[in-house]
Amino acid sequence: MGTQASFIQTPPGLDNQFESDWLLQAWLDAELPEALLHAERPLLKEIGARAGGEWYALQQADRLNEPRLTQWSPWGERIDRIELTPLWLKAKDWAAEYGLVAAGYDKDLAEYARTIQFARAWLFIPSTDFYGCPLAMTDGAARVLHDAGNRALAERALPHLLARSGDAFWTSGQWMTETIGGSDVSRSQTVARRDDHGQWRLHGRKWFTSAATSEMALTLARPEGNPGGSRGLALFYVEPHDADGRLQQIEIQRLKDKLGTRKLPTAELWLDGTPAEPVAELERGVAAIAPVLNLTRTWNAITACSLMRRGLALAESYAGLREAFGRRLIELPLHRRTLALLEADFAAASAATWAMIRELGRVEHAHPQAQAKLQRLLTPVIKLGTARDAIAVTSEVLECFGGAGYIEDTGLPQLLRDVQVLSIWEGTTNVLALDLLRVIETDGLAPWQDAMQARIAGWSGPEMSLLAEIARTALAQTAADFESAAATAQANARALALNVYRVTALVELCDLGARGLKRGQSQAARVLDVARRYARLRFRLEPVDADEQEPGL
Ligand SMILES: Cc1cc2nc3c(=O)[nH]c(=O)nc-3n(C[C@H](O)[C@H](O)[C@H](O)COP(=O)(O)OP(=O)(O)OC[C@H]3O[C@@H](n4cnc5c(N)ncnc54)[C@H](O)[C@@H]3O)c2cc1C
Repeated sequence: MGTQASFIQTPPGLDNQFESDWLLQAWLDAELPEALLHAERPLLKEIGARAGGEWYALQQADRLNEPRLTQWSPWGERIDRIELTPLWLKAKDWAAEYGLVAAGYDKDLAEYARTIQFARAWLFIPSTDFYGCPLAMTDGAARVLHDAGNRALAERALPHLLARSGDAFWTSGQWMTETIGGSDVSRSQTVARRDDHGQWRLHGRKWFTSAATSEMALTLARPEGNPGGSRGLALFYVEPHDADGRLQQIEIQRLKDKLGTRKLPTAELWLDGTPAEPVAELERGVAAIAPVLNLTRTWNAITACSLMRRGLALAESYAGLREAFGRRLIELPLHRRTLALLEADFAAASAATWAMIRELGRVEHAHPQAQAKLQRLLTPVIKLGTARDAIAVTSEVLECFGGAGYIEDTGLPQLLRDVQVLSIWEGTTNVLALDLLRVIETDGLAPWQDAMQARIAGWSGPEMSLLAEIARTALAQTAADFESAAATAQANARALALNVYRVTALVELCDLGARGLKRGQSQAARVLDVARRYARLRFRLEPVDADEQEPGL
Protein backbone atom coordinates (compact mmCIF):
# COMPACT_ATOMS: atom_id res chain seq x y z
CA MET A 1 0.00 0.00 0.00
CA GLY A 2 2.66 2.43 1.17
CA THR A 3 4.82 1.92 -1.90
CA GLN A 4 1.92 2.74 -4.19
CA ALA A 5 1.55 6.16 -2.65
CA SER A 6 5.23 7.02 -2.76
CA PHE A 7 6.95 9.01 -5.50
CA ILE A 8 8.35 7.09 -8.46
CA GLN A 9 11.16 8.73 -10.40
CA THR A 10 10.85 8.72 -14.18
CA PRO A 11 14.06 7.08 -15.44
CA PRO A 12 16.42 8.86 -17.84
CA GLY A 13 15.99 7.95 -21.49
CA LEU A 14 17.78 8.17 -24.79
CA ASP A 15 16.51 9.63 -28.05
CA ASN A 16 17.90 9.14 -31.53
CA GLN A 17 21.61 9.22 -30.72
CA PHE A 18 22.54 10.76 -34.06
CA GLU A 19 19.85 13.42 -34.26
CA SER A 20 20.50 14.72 -30.75
CA ASP A 21 24.30 14.75 -31.18
CA TRP A 22 24.91 18.33 -32.25
CA LEU A 23 28.67 17.99 -31.79
CA LEU A 24 28.95 14.92 -34.04
CA GLN A 25 26.86 16.75 -36.63
CA ALA A 26 29.08 19.82 -36.42
CA TRP A 27 32.12 17.61 -37.00
CA LEU A 28 30.64 15.75 -39.97
CA ASP A 29 29.41 19.00 -41.45
CA ALA A 30 32.92 20.47 -41.23
CA GLU A 31 34.69 17.35 -42.42
CA LEU A 32 32.70 15.71 -45.18
CA PRO A 33 31.81 16.98 -48.65
CA GLU A 34 28.12 17.87 -48.74
CA ALA A 35 27.13 15.09 -51.16
CA LEU A 36 28.87 12.44 -49.08
CA LEU A 37 27.24 13.61 -45.86
CA HIS A 38 23.87 13.74 -47.60
CA ALA A 39 24.31 10.13 -48.72
CA GLU A 40 25.52 8.97 -45.29
CA ARG A 41 22.98 10.77 -43.11
CA PRO A 42 20.07 8.26 -43.45
CA LEU A 43 22.35 5.42 -42.28
CA LEU A 44 23.62 7.43 -39.30
CA LYS A 45 20.03 8.28 -38.42
CA GLU A 46 19.13 4.62 -38.55
CA ILE A 47 22.06 3.57 -36.34
CA GLY A 48 21.29 6.48 -33.99
CA ALA A 49 17.65 5.37 -33.68
CA ARG A 50 18.63 1.78 -32.91
CA ALA A 51 21.38 2.81 -30.48
CA GLY A 52 18.98 4.94 -28.46
CA GLY A 53 16.03 2.52 -28.84
CA GLU A 54 16.09 -1.18 -29.61
CA TRP A 55 19.80 -1.80 -28.85
CA TYR A 56 19.72 0.19 -25.62
CA ALA A 57 16.66 -1.78 -24.47
CA LEU A 58 18.38 -5.06 -25.35
CA GLN A 59 21.49 -3.96 -23.52
CA GLN A 60 19.49 -3.31 -20.37
CA ALA A 61 17.67 -6.64 -20.69
CA ASP A 62 21.04 -8.39 -21.18
CA ARG A 63 22.61 -6.76 -18.13
CA LEU A 64 23.09 -9.88 -16.02
CA ASN A 65 24.24 -12.19 -18.82
CA GLU A 66 27.91 -12.99 -19.15
CA PRO A 67 29.92 -15.23 -21.47
CA ARG A 68 30.32 -18.78 -20.19
CA LEU A 69 33.15 -21.22 -20.66
CA THR A 70 32.34 -24.92 -20.69
CA GLN A 71 35.55 -26.91 -20.54
CA TRP A 72 34.25 -30.47 -20.45
CA SER A 73 31.44 -32.38 -22.14
CA PRO A 74 29.23 -34.51 -19.87
CA TRP A 75 31.24 -37.53 -21.10
CA GLY A 76 34.62 -36.19 -20.16
CA GLU A 77 35.78 -34.75 -23.48
CA ARG A 78 37.71 -31.47 -23.30
CA ILE A 79 35.63 -29.05 -25.39
CA ASP A 80 36.47 -25.49 -24.19
CA ARG A 81 33.39 -23.83 -25.64
CA ILE A 82 32.53 -20.19 -24.94
CA GLU A 83 28.92 -19.09 -25.13
CA LEU A 84 28.45 -15.41 -25.82
CA THR A 85 25.72 -13.15 -24.47
CA PRO A 86 22.58 -12.64 -26.60
CA LEU A 87 23.46 -9.02 -27.43
CA TRP A 88 26.96 -9.98 -28.52
CA LEU A 89 25.60 -12.64 -30.88
CA LYS A 90 23.48 -10.01 -32.58
CA ALA A 91 26.16 -7.33 -32.52
CA LYS A 92 28.27 -9.34 -34.96
CA ASP A 93 25.55 -9.12 -37.63
CA TRP A 94 24.96 -5.42 -37.03
CA ALA A 95 28.66 -4.62 -37.14
CA ALA A 96 29.05 -6.43 -40.46
CA GLU A 97 25.91 -5.00 -42.01
CA TYR A 98 26.85 -1.43 -41.10
CA GLY A 99 30.36 -1.99 -42.44
CA LEU A 100 31.98 -0.98 -39.17
CA VAL A 101 35.29 -2.41 -40.34
CA ALA A 102 34.70 -2.53 -44.11
CA ALA A 103 33.84 1.17 -44.47
CA GLY A 104 37.35 2.09 -43.36
CA TYR A 105 38.72 0.29 -46.44
CA ASP A 106 36.12 1.53 -48.93
CA LYS A 107 38.13 3.12 -51.75
CA ASP A 108 35.06 5.01 -53.00
CA LEU A 109 35.08 7.00 -49.75
CA ALA A 110 38.68 8.13 -50.43
CA GLU A 111 40.24 10.07 -47.54
CA TYR A 112 36.85 10.22 -45.79
CA ALA A 113 36.60 6.46 -45.28
CA ARG A 114 37.85 6.62 -41.68
CA THR A 115 35.63 9.56 -40.76
CA ILE A 116 32.56 7.70 -42.00
CA GLN A 117 33.56 4.41 -40.40
CA PHE A 118 34.18 5.98 -37.01
CA ALA A 119 31.02 8.13 -37.11
CA ARG A 120 29.07 4.87 -37.38
CA ALA A 121 31.19 3.24 -34.68
CA TRP A 122 30.63 6.26 -32.41
CA LEU A 123 26.89 5.53 -32.44
CA PHE A 124 27.24 1.75 -32.26
CA ILE A 125 29.77 1.32 -29.43
CA PRO A 126 27.90 2.60 -26.35
CA SER A 127 24.90 0.28 -26.91
CA THR A 128 26.80 -2.93 -27.68
CA ASP A 129 28.73 -3.81 -24.55
CA PHE A 130 32.29 -3.43 -25.82
CA TYR A 131 31.75 -5.26 -29.10
CA GLY A 132 33.97 -2.44 -30.34
CA CYS A 133 36.93 -4.37 -28.88
CA PRO A 134 36.88 -7.22 -31.43
CA LEU A 135 36.10 -4.70 -34.15
CA ALA A 136 39.19 -2.71 -33.22
CA MET A 137 41.42 -5.80 -33.40
CA THR A 138 39.74 -6.88 -36.63
CA ASP A 139 40.41 -3.48 -38.15
CA GLY A 140 44.05 -3.74 -37.09
CA ALA A 141 44.39 -7.25 -38.52
CA ALA A 142 42.82 -6.13 -41.80
CA ARG A 143 45.37 -3.31 -42.05
CA VAL A 144 48.28 -5.68 -41.38
CA LEU A 145 47.10 -8.30 -43.88
CA HIS A 146 46.27 -5.61 -46.43
CA ASP A 147 49.82 -4.20 -46.26
CA ALA A 148 51.99 -7.22 -45.41
CA GLY A 149 52.40 -8.57 -48.93
CA ASN A 150 51.43 -12.13 -47.93
CA ARG A 151 49.00 -12.79 -50.75
CA ALA A 152 47.79 -16.19 -49.56
CA LEU A 153 46.83 -14.88 -46.11
CA ALA A 154 45.29 -11.70 -47.51
CA GLU A 155 43.16 -13.70 -49.94
CA ARG A 156 42.12 -16.11 -47.22
CA ALA A 157 41.19 -13.65 -44.46
CA LEU A 158 40.53 -10.17 -45.88
CA PRO A 159 37.22 -11.04 -47.60
CA HIS A 160 35.98 -12.19 -44.17
CA LEU A 161 37.38 -9.30 -42.13
CA LEU A 162 35.80 -6.83 -44.55
CA ALA A 163 32.57 -8.79 -45.08
CA ARG A 164 29.24 -7.00 -44.84
CA SER A 165 27.14 -9.94 -43.72
CA GLY A 166 27.26 -11.55 -40.30
CA ASP A 167 27.64 -15.07 -41.74
CA ALA A 168 30.77 -14.21 -43.69
CA PHE A 169 32.23 -11.76 -41.18
CA TRP A 170 35.24 -12.79 -39.08
CA THR A 171 36.68 -10.98 -36.13
CA SER A 172 40.33 -11.19 -35.15
CA GLY A 173 42.07 -11.49 -31.82
CA GLN A 174 45.45 -9.99 -30.98
CA TRP A 175 47.44 -12.22 -28.64
CA MET A 176 50.44 -10.36 -27.34
CA THR A 177 50.39 -10.21 -23.56
CA GLU A 178 52.03 -13.08 -21.68
CA THR A 179 52.48 -13.66 -17.96
CA ILE A 180 55.94 -12.15 -18.21
CA GLY A 181 54.77 -8.85 -19.71
CA GLY A 182 52.20 -6.86 -21.64
CA SER A 183 53.88 -3.47 -21.90
CA ASP A 184 57.22 -5.14 -22.52
CA VAL A 185 56.67 -8.17 -24.76
CA SER A 186 60.35 -8.56 -25.59
CA ARG A 187 60.74 -11.52 -23.22
CA SER A 188 57.70 -13.38 -24.57
CA GLN A 189 58.05 -17.08 -24.04
CA THR A 190 55.88 -18.52 -26.81
CA VAL A 191 58.02 -20.57 -29.18
CA ALA A 192 57.37 -21.36 -32.86
CA ARG A 193 58.63 -24.67 -34.23
CA ARG A 194 58.24 -26.40 -37.57
CA ASP A 195 56.87 -29.95 -37.44
CA ASP A 196 57.97 -32.81 -39.68
CA HIS A 197 55.63 -31.58 -42.42
CA GLY A 198 57.07 -28.06 -42.34
CA GLN A 199 54.02 -26.67 -40.54
CA TRP A 200 54.78 -23.95 -37.98
CA ARG A 201 53.36 -24.73 -34.56
CA LEU A 202 53.15 -22.47 -31.51
CA HIS A 203 53.86 -23.51 -27.92
CA GLY A 204 53.22 -21.14 -25.02
CA ARG A 205 50.77 -19.33 -22.84
CA LYS A 206 48.83 -16.22 -23.85
CA TRP A 207 47.69 -14.47 -20.71
CA PHE A 208 45.09 -11.99 -21.98
CA THR A 209 43.21 -12.79 -25.20
CA SER A 210 40.06 -10.77 -25.66
CA ALA A 211 37.23 -11.78 -27.94
CA ALA A 212 38.48 -15.32 -27.54
CA THR A 213 35.80 -16.61 -29.94
CA SER A 214 37.33 -14.78 -32.90
CA GLU A 215 37.84 -16.74 -36.10
CA MET A 216 41.48 -15.68 -36.44
CA ALA A 217 44.21 -14.02 -34.43
CA LEU A 218 47.54 -12.32 -34.91
CA THR A 219 50.11 -13.30 -32.34
CA LEU A 220 53.79 -13.10 -31.47
CA ALA A 221 56.11 -16.06 -31.05
CA ARG A 222 59.84 -16.65 -31.18
CA PRO A 223 60.91 -19.05 -33.95
CA GLU A 224 63.24 -21.61 -32.40
CA GLY A 225 66.84 -20.50 -32.64
CA ASN A 226 65.97 -16.79 -32.98
CA PRO A 227 67.77 -14.34 -30.66
CA GLY A 228 66.11 -13.01 -27.50
CA GLY A 229 64.52 -9.59 -27.28
CA SER A 230 61.75 -8.17 -29.41
CA ARG A 231 63.77 -8.44 -32.63
CA GLY A 232 63.65 -12.24 -32.38
CA LEU A 233 59.86 -12.37 -32.23
CA ALA A 234 57.84 -13.01 -35.38
CA LEU A 235 54.23 -12.24 -36.23
CA PHE A 236 52.02 -15.27 -36.84
CA TYR A 237 48.51 -15.79 -38.18
CA VAL A 238 46.36 -18.35 -36.34
CA GLU A 239 42.94 -19.83 -36.97
CA PRO A 240 41.99 -21.16 -33.54
CA HIS A 241 39.35 -23.58 -34.86
CA ASP A 242 39.54 -26.23 -37.56
CA ALA A 243 36.87 -26.71 -40.23
CA ASP A 244 34.77 -28.77 -37.76
CA GLY A 245 34.83 -26.02 -35.16
CA ARG A 246 37.33 -27.80 -32.87
CA LEU A 247 40.07 -25.83 -31.21
CA GLN A 248 43.43 -26.58 -32.82
CA GLN A 249 45.75 -27.58 -30.00
CA ILE A 250 44.53 -24.74 -27.82
CA GLU A 251 43.25 -25.02 -24.28
CA ILE A 252 41.11 -22.22 -22.91
CA GLN A 253 42.31 -22.35 -19.35
CA ARG A 254 39.83 -19.86 -17.95
CA LEU A 255 37.96 -16.63 -18.64
CA LYS A 256 39.26 -13.63 -16.76
CA ASP A 257 37.13 -12.45 -13.85
CA LYS A 258 37.24 -8.75 -14.70
CA LEU A 259 36.25 -5.45 -13.08
CA GLY A 260 34.40 -4.39 -16.25
CA THR A 261 34.00 -5.26 -19.95
CA ARG A 262 32.39 -8.40 -18.61
CA LYS A 263 30.50 -9.23 -21.81
CA LEU A 264 33.81 -9.42 -23.63
CA PRO A 265 35.28 -12.91 -23.18
CA THR A 266 38.93 -12.43 -22.26
CA ALA A 267 40.67 -15.78 -21.93
CA GLU A 268 43.94 -17.33 -20.85
CA LEU A 269 45.09 -19.68 -23.60
CA TRP A 270 47.53 -22.52 -23.62
CA LEU A 271 48.98 -23.12 -27.10
CA ASP A 272 50.22 -26.66 -27.40
CA GLY A 273 51.31 -27.05 -31.01
CA THR A 274 48.76 -24.66 -32.52
CA PRO A 275 49.23 -24.45 -36.31
CA ALA A 276 50.24 -20.98 -37.45
CA GLU A 277 51.48 -19.14 -40.52
CA PRO A 278 54.14 -16.42 -40.47
CA VAL A 279 52.63 -13.16 -41.71
CA ALA A 280 55.92 -11.81 -43.03
CA GLU A 281 59.59 -12.29 -42.17
CA LEU A 282 60.55 -14.55 -39.26
CA GLU A 283 61.68 -11.71 -37.01
CA ARG A 284 60.73 -8.15 -36.05
CA GLY A 285 57.18 -9.17 -35.18
CA VAL A 286 56.66 -6.26 -32.81
CA ALA A 287 57.21 -3.81 -35.67
CA ALA A 288 54.95 -5.93 -37.88
CA ILE A 289 52.07 -5.77 -35.38
CA ALA A 290 52.43 -2.00 -34.84
CA PRO A 291 49.66 -1.13 -37.36
CA VAL A 292 47.26 -3.15 -35.20
CA LEU A 293 48.17 -1.02 -32.18
CA ASN A 294 47.79 2.16 -34.19
CA LEU A 295 44.21 1.22 -35.00
CA THR A 296 43.21 -0.28 -31.67
CA ARG A 297 44.40 2.93 -30.02
CA THR A 298 42.24 4.91 -32.43
CA TRP A 299 39.25 2.72 -31.55
CA ASN A 300 40.10 3.15 -27.88
CA ALA A 301 39.83 6.93 -28.21
CA ILE A 302 36.52 6.72 -30.09
CA THR A 303 35.24 4.35 -27.43
CA ALA A 304 36.31 6.73 -24.65
CA CYS A 305 34.53 9.67 -26.25
CA SER A 306 31.40 7.82 -27.25
CA LEU A 307 31.03 6.40 -23.73
CA MET A 308 31.43 9.91 -22.29
CA ARG A 309 28.69 10.99 -24.65
CA ARG A 310 26.47 8.13 -23.45
CA GLY A 311 27.00 9.04 -19.80
CA LEU A 312 26.32 12.72 -20.45
CA ALA A 313 23.22 11.99 -22.55
CA LEU A 314 21.78 10.03 -19.63
CA ALA A 315 22.84 12.64 -17.06
CA GLU A 316 21.29 15.44 -19.10
CA SER A 317 18.08 13.49 -19.53
CA TYR A 318 17.97 12.86 -15.80
CA ALA A 319 18.65 16.52 -15.00
CA GLY A 320 15.53 17.40 -16.96
CA LEU A 321 13.41 14.94 -14.96
CA ARG A 322 14.69 14.90 -11.42
CA GLU A 323 13.72 17.63 -8.98
CA ALA A 324 15.51 18.89 -5.85
CA PHE A 325 14.74 21.92 -3.75
CA GLY A 326 11.65 22.67 -5.83
CA ARG A 327 13.41 22.82 -9.19
CA ARG A 328 14.54 20.44 -11.87
CA LEU A 329 18.26 19.70 -11.56
CA ILE A 330 18.88 21.35 -14.90
CA GLU A 331 17.58 24.62 -13.44
CA LEU A 332 19.96 24.55 -10.48
CA PRO A 333 22.95 26.74 -11.47
CA LEU A 334 25.59 24.57 -9.84
CA HIS A 335 24.30 21.29 -11.28
CA ARG A 336 24.03 22.96 -14.65
CA ARG A 337 27.61 24.22 -14.36
CA THR A 338 28.76 20.73 -13.34
CA LEU A 339 27.28 19.25 -16.50
CA ALA A 340 28.61 22.09 -18.63
CA LEU A 341 32.18 21.49 -17.48
CA LEU A 342 31.90 17.76 -18.11
CA GLU A 343 30.61 18.58 -21.56
CA ALA A 344 33.67 20.76 -22.16
CA ASP A 345 36.09 17.89 -21.43
CA PHE A 346 34.01 15.54 -23.55
CA ALA A 347 33.78 17.94 -26.51
CA ALA A 348 37.49 18.74 -26.50
CA ALA A 349 38.41 15.05 -26.25
CA SER A 350 36.10 14.34 -29.18
CA ALA A 351 37.50 17.12 -31.35
CA ALA A 352 41.03 15.82 -30.76
CA THR A 353 39.97 12.27 -31.58
CA TRP A 354 38.23 13.27 -34.79
CA ALA A 355 41.27 15.26 -35.87
CA MET A 356 43.41 12.16 -35.37
CA ILE A 357 40.92 10.17 -37.47
CA ARG A 358 41.00 12.78 -40.23
CA GLU A 359 44.80 12.46 -40.34
CA LEU A 360 44.53 8.66 -40.42
CA GLY A 361 42.19 8.87 -43.42
CA ARG A 362 44.58 11.19 -45.24
CA VAL A 363 47.62 9.09 -44.46
CA GLU A 364 46.00 5.86 -45.65
CA HIS A 365 44.62 7.51 -48.77
CA ALA A 366 47.57 9.51 -50.05
CA HIS A 367 50.51 8.78 -47.68
CA PRO A 368 51.64 12.41 -47.22
CA GLN A 369 54.78 12.55 -45.05
CA ALA A 370 53.78 15.49 -42.85
CA GLN A 371 50.41 13.96 -42.01
CA ALA A 372 52.00 10.60 -41.29
CA LYS A 373 54.31 12.19 -38.72
CA LEU A 374 51.46 14.13 -37.15
CA GLN A 375 49.21 11.09 -36.97
CA ARG A 376 52.02 8.99 -35.47
CA LEU A 377 52.45 11.60 -32.72
CA LEU A 378 48.75 12.13 -32.10
CA THR A 379 47.77 8.47 -31.74
CA PRO A 380 49.45 7.65 -28.38
CA VAL A 381 48.68 11.13 -27.02
CA ILE A 382 44.98 11.10 -27.88
CA LYS A 383 44.55 7.51 -26.70
CA LEU A 384 46.19 8.38 -23.41
CA GLY A 385 44.27 11.62 -22.83
CA THR A 386 40.81 10.46 -23.86
CA ALA A 387 41.09 7.35 -21.67
CA ARG A 388 41.88 9.46 -18.62
CA ASP A 389 39.11 11.93 -19.42
CA ALA A 390 36.61 9.12 -19.88
CA ILE A 391 37.37 7.74 -16.42
CA ALA A 392 37.11 11.16 -14.74
CA VAL A 393 33.99 12.26 -16.65
CA THR A 394 32.19 8.96 -16.11
CA SER A 395 32.91 9.02 -12.40
CA GLU A 396 31.33 12.50 -12.23
CA VAL A 397 28.43 11.34 -14.38
CA LEU A 398 27.57 8.73 -11.78
CA GLU A 399 27.52 11.42 -9.09
CA CYS A 400 25.09 13.43 -11.23
CA PHE A 401 22.54 10.70 -10.47
CA GLY A 402 23.10 10.81 -6.72
CA GLY A 403 22.52 7.42 -5.11
CA ALA A 404 20.96 5.99 -8.27
CA GLY A 405 24.34 6.31 -10.00
CA TYR A 406 25.73 3.72 -7.58
CA ILE A 407 22.98 1.17 -8.13
CA GLU A 408 23.65 -1.69 -10.49
CA ASP A 409 20.30 -2.09 -12.18
CA THR A 410 20.34 1.49 -13.44
CA GLY A 411 23.15 0.25 -15.74
CA LEU A 412 25.29 3.22 -14.66
CA PRO A 413 28.01 1.51 -12.56
CA GLN A 414 28.83 -0.69 -15.54
CA LEU A 415 29.77 2.41 -17.50
CA LEU A 416 32.40 3.36 -14.93
CA ARG A 417 33.79 -0.15 -14.63
CA ASP A 418 34.01 -0.44 -18.39
CA VAL A 419 35.83 2.82 -19.05
CA GLN A 420 38.47 1.98 -16.45
CA VAL A 421 40.04 -0.46 -18.91
CA LEU A 422 40.66 2.22 -21.51
CA SER A 423 43.81 3.49 -19.83
CA ILE A 424 45.20 -0.02 -19.30
CA TRP A 425 44.96 -2.04 -22.49
CA GLU A 426 46.52 -1.03 -25.79
CA GLY A 427 49.25 0.74 -23.83
CA THR A 428 49.01 2.16 -20.33
CA THR A 429 49.31 5.90 -19.72
CA ASN A 430 53.01 5.61 -18.94
CA VAL A 431 53.79 3.37 -21.87
CA LEU A 432 52.07 5.76 -24.28
CA ALA A 433 53.75 8.78 -22.75
CA LEU A 434 57.11 7.09 -23.38
CA ASP A 435 55.98 6.31 -26.91
CA LEU A 436 55.46 10.04 -27.42
CA LEU A 437 59.04 10.68 -26.31
CA ARG A 438 60.23 8.12 -28.87
CA VAL A 439 58.26 9.85 -31.62
CA ILE A 440 59.75 13.20 -30.64
CA GLU A 441 63.24 11.76 -30.59
CA THR A 442 62.78 10.75 -34.24
CA ASP A 443 60.64 13.54 -35.71
CA GLY A 444 60.83 16.32 -33.12
CA LEU A 445 57.82 18.29 -31.94
CA ALA A 446 57.69 20.35 -35.15
CA PRO A 447 55.08 18.31 -37.07
CA TRP A 448 52.67 18.91 -34.20
CA GLN A 449 53.64 22.53 -33.55
CA ASP A 450 53.36 23.38 -37.24
CA ALA A 451 49.95 21.75 -37.53
CA MET A 452 48.61 23.52 -34.43
CA GLN A 453 50.05 26.87 -35.55
CA ALA A 454 48.53 26.44 -39.01
CA ARG A 455 45.10 25.83 -37.46
CA ILE A 456 45.36 28.92 -35.26
CA ALA A 457 46.55 31.04 -38.19
CA GLY A 458 43.36 30.13 -40.03
CA TRP A 459 41.08 31.60 -37.34
CA SER A 460 39.65 35.08 -37.85
CA GLY A 461 37.12 37.42 -36.33
CA PRO A 462 36.58 38.84 -32.85
CA GLU A 463 35.08 35.55 -31.56
CA MET A 464 38.41 33.85 -32.13
CA SER A 465 40.94 36.40 -30.89
CA LEU A 466 40.99 35.49 -27.18
CA LEU A 467 40.92 31.76 -27.94
CA ALA A 468 43.79 32.22 -30.41
CA GLU A 469 45.82 34.02 -27.76
CA ILE A 470 45.18 31.28 -25.20
CA ALA A 471 46.05 28.56 -27.71
CA ARG A 472 49.28 30.29 -28.83
CA THR A 473 50.40 30.79 -25.23
CA ALA A 474 49.63 27.17 -24.32
CA LEU A 475 51.42 25.89 -27.42
CA ALA A 476 54.53 27.92 -26.67
CA GLN A 477 54.44 26.81 -23.02
CA THR A 478 54.21 23.14 -23.99
CA ALA A 479 57.21 23.42 -26.30
CA ALA A 480 59.15 25.24 -23.55
CA ASP A 481 58.23 22.49 -21.05
CA PHE A 482 59.76 19.88 -23.37
CA GLU A 483 62.99 21.85 -23.51
CA SER A 484 63.22 22.49 -19.79
CA ALA A 485 62.35 18.87 -18.95
CA ALA A 486 64.80 17.40 -21.47
CA ALA A 487 67.09 15.96 -18.81
CA THR A 488 64.21 14.38 -16.90
CA ALA A 489 61.91 13.72 -19.83
CA GLN A 490 61.23 10.10 -18.89
CA ALA A 491 60.10 10.92 -15.37
CA ASN A 492 58.00 13.81 -16.69
CA ALA A 493 56.66 12.03 -19.76
CA ARG A 494 53.14 11.69 -18.43
CA ALA A 495 52.73 15.40 -17.69
CA LEU A 496 54.33 16.35 -21.01
CA ALA A 497 52.03 14.03 -22.95
CA LEU A 498 48.96 15.31 -21.12
CA ASN A 499 49.96 18.87 -22.01
CA VAL A 500 50.23 17.94 -25.68
CA TYR A 501 46.83 16.29 -25.39
CA ARG A 502 45.14 19.27 -23.77
CA VAL A 503 46.57 21.76 -26.26
CA THR A 504 45.57 19.56 -29.19
CA ALA A 505 42.08 19.22 -27.76
CA LEU A 506 41.72 22.97 -27.30
CA VAL A 507 43.05 23.83 -30.76
CA GLU A 508 40.95 21.21 -32.54
CA LEU A 509 37.76 22.22 -30.73
CA CYS A 510 38.37 25.90 -31.51
CA ASP A 511 39.20 24.98 -35.08
CA LEU A 512 35.93 23.12 -35.45
CA GLY A 513 34.13 26.26 -34.24
CA ALA A 514 36.21 28.59 -36.41
CA ARG A 515 35.59 26.56 -39.56
CA GLY A 516 31.91 26.41 -38.71
CA LEU A 517 31.75 30.19 -38.26
CA LYS A 518 33.29 30.74 -41.69
CA ARG A 519 30.72 28.47 -43.30
CA GLY A 520 27.81 29.99 -41.36
CA GLN A 521 27.18 26.62 -39.69
CA SER A 522 24.34 26.70 -37.19
CA GLN A 523 26.30 24.84 -34.46
CA ALA A 524 29.42 27.03 -34.62
CA ALA A 525 28.48 29.43 -31.79
CA ARG A 526 27.71 26.48 -29.56
CA VAL A 527 31.02 24.79 -30.35
CA LEU A 528 32.87 28.00 -29.48
CA ASP A 529 30.95 28.37 -26.20
CA VAL A 530 32.17 24.93 -25.19
CA ALA A 531 35.70 25.78 -26.37
CA ARG A 532 35.73 28.87 -24.12
CA ARG A 533 34.58 26.74 -21.22
CA TYR A 534 37.37 24.26 -21.93
CA ALA A 535 39.94 27.06 -22.08
CA ARG A 536 38.84 28.33 -18.68
CA LEU A 537 38.67 24.87 -17.17
CA ARG A 538 41.98 23.52 -18.42
CA PHE A 539 44.15 26.59 -19.05
CA ARG A 540 42.82 28.93 -16.38
CA LEU A 541 43.62 31.98 -18.41
CA GLU A 542 40.31 33.66 -17.60
CA PRO A 543 38.56 33.95 -14.24
CA VAL A 544 36.65 30.75 -13.47
CA ASP A 545 33.82 32.73 -11.92
CA ALA A 546 33.11 34.78 -15.05
CA ASP A 547 29.53 35.86 -14.80
CA GLU A 548 28.13 33.95 -17.70
CA GLN A 549 25.01 32.10 -18.57
CA GLU A 550 25.83 28.55 -19.48
CA PRO A 551 24.45 27.89 -22.94
CA GLY A 552 22.04 25.07 -23.63
CA LEU A 553 23.53 21.68 -22.97
C1 LIG B 1 40.20 -6.48 -20.04
C2 LIG B 1 41.54 -6.67 -20.65
C3 LIG B 1 41.62 -7.24 -21.89
C4 LIG B 1 42.86 -7.43 -22.50
N1 LIG B 1 42.91 -8.02 -23.73
C5 LIG B 1 44.13 -8.25 -24.30
C6 LIG B 1 44.22 -8.90 -25.58
O1 LIG B 1 43.23 -9.21 -26.22
N2 LIG B 1 45.44 -9.13 -26.09
C7 LIG B 1 46.59 -8.77 -25.43
O2 LIG B 1 47.67 -9.00 -25.95
N3 LIG B 1 46.53 -8.16 -24.22
C8 LIG B 1 45.33 -7.88 -23.66
N4 LIG B 1 45.26 -7.27 -22.43
C9 LIG B 1 46.49 -7.01 -21.70
C10 LIG B 1 46.91 -5.56 -21.70
O3 LIG B 1 47.26 -5.12 -22.98
C11 LIG B 1 48.07 -5.45 -20.70
O4 LIG B 1 47.54 -5.73 -19.42
C12 LIG B 1 48.73 -4.11 -20.72
O5 LIG B 1 49.42 -3.94 -21.94
C13 LIG B 1 49.72 -3.94 -19.56
O6 LIG B 1 50.59 -5.00 -19.48
P1 LIG B 1 50.80 -5.78 -18.09
O7 LIG B 1 49.47 -6.19 -17.59
O8 LIG B 1 51.81 -6.83 -18.29
O9 LIG B 1 51.33 -4.66 -17.11
P2 LIG B 1 52.86 -4.26 -16.90
O10 LIG B 1 53.49 -4.11 -18.23
O11 LIG B 1 53.48 -5.17 -15.92
O12 LIG B 1 52.69 -2.80 -16.25
C14 LIG B 1 52.54 -2.57 -14.85
C15 LIG B 1 52.69 -1.07 -14.59
O13 LIG B 1 53.99 -0.65 -14.94
C16 LIG B 1 53.93 0.49 -15.77
N5 LIG B 1 55.08 0.46 -16.69
C17 LIG B 1 55.44 -0.53 -17.51
N6 LIG B 1 56.54 -0.17 -18.21
C18 LIG B 1 56.87 1.07 -17.80
C19 LIG B 1 57.93 1.99 -18.10
N7 LIG B 1 58.85 1.68 -19.01
N8 LIG B 1 57.96 3.17 -17.45
C20 LIG B 1 57.02 3.50 -16.55
N9 LIG B 1 56.01 2.69 -16.22
C21 LIG B 1 55.93 1.49 -16.83
C22 LIG B 1 52.62 0.40 -16.48
O14 LIG B 1 52.18 1.70 -16.89
C23 LIG B 1 51.74 -0.20 -15.40
O15 LIG B 1 51.22 0.83 -14.60
C24 LIG B 1 44.03 -7.04 -21.83
C25 LIG B 1 43.94 -6.44 -20.57
C26 LIG B 1 42.72 -6.26 -19.99
C27 LIG B 1 42.64 -5.63 -18.63
